[in-house]
Amino acid sequence: MLHYQDSPKDGKSCSECTSFRPSTTPDSDTGTCKVLEGPISPHGWCMAFSRR
Ligand code: SF4
Repeated sequence: MLHYQDSPKDGKSCSECTSFRPSTTPDSDTGTCKVLEGPISPHGWCMAFSRR
């Protein structure tokens, strides 16, 4: 619905988004998101992107 993709878009990525919650596991960089369910790559992007 929000057109999540696992790659950045126009230089924007989840790691710079206010909704991104970084991984709590040291051997994984996959985090979570307040808006979308499921594992979220810090290098992903979706339409709800908001720069922090
Ligand atoms: S709202 Fe979108 S861009 Fe922001 S962290 Fe979640 S999936 Fe990534």
